[in-house]
Amino acid sequence: MSEVLLPIVIIDEIYQQIRKRRSGNEQGGILLGYRKENALQITNYTLPQKWDYASPVLFNRSTRGHKKLAHDEWRRSGRIVDWLGEWHTHPGGVAIPSITDRQSWFRLVRHTKNPMIFLIFSDQDMYAGLQQLVPAILKQLKLVERNEDAILFGAEI
Ligand SMILES: [Zn+2]
Repeated sequence: MSEVLLPIVIIDEIYQQIRKRRSGNEQGGILLGYRKENALQITNYTLPQKWDYASPVLFNRSTRGHKKLAHDEWRRSGRIVDWLGEWHTHPGGVAIPSITDRQSWFRLVRHTKNPMIFLIFSDQDMYAGLQQLVPAILKQLKLVERNEDAILFGAEI
């Protein structure tokens, strides 16, 4: 069992952001936090940067901007905070990963050699998945527990 801890404040802030920049285009960013034995704890995230490419059906995150923010966070944390995954939106769509999503997530995990978390925000729902390298499987994360501060997800491995 692998667990993922996601603070509710992050979900709230991302939804606020989505509403604020409602352009009809997808939005996205990266997820940062701690890797522990059998657990990933999300503590931070990045918002869309001006170098990203966004359309109603595509969000192409630029390395520029996000990478610097991630690096700053990593340094500030004493080199502990790691790149845990990515989030993006499906405006007017459903919170289900597309073929393109699945392909790019697998490419990313092959690159980082670590399991990564992927969140999709539709207007109503949120999808949470964990992509592994070996075996190369995308697991949908299931709600284990929720309190006012955080949501705990679990994935069978
Ligand atoms: Zn997508």
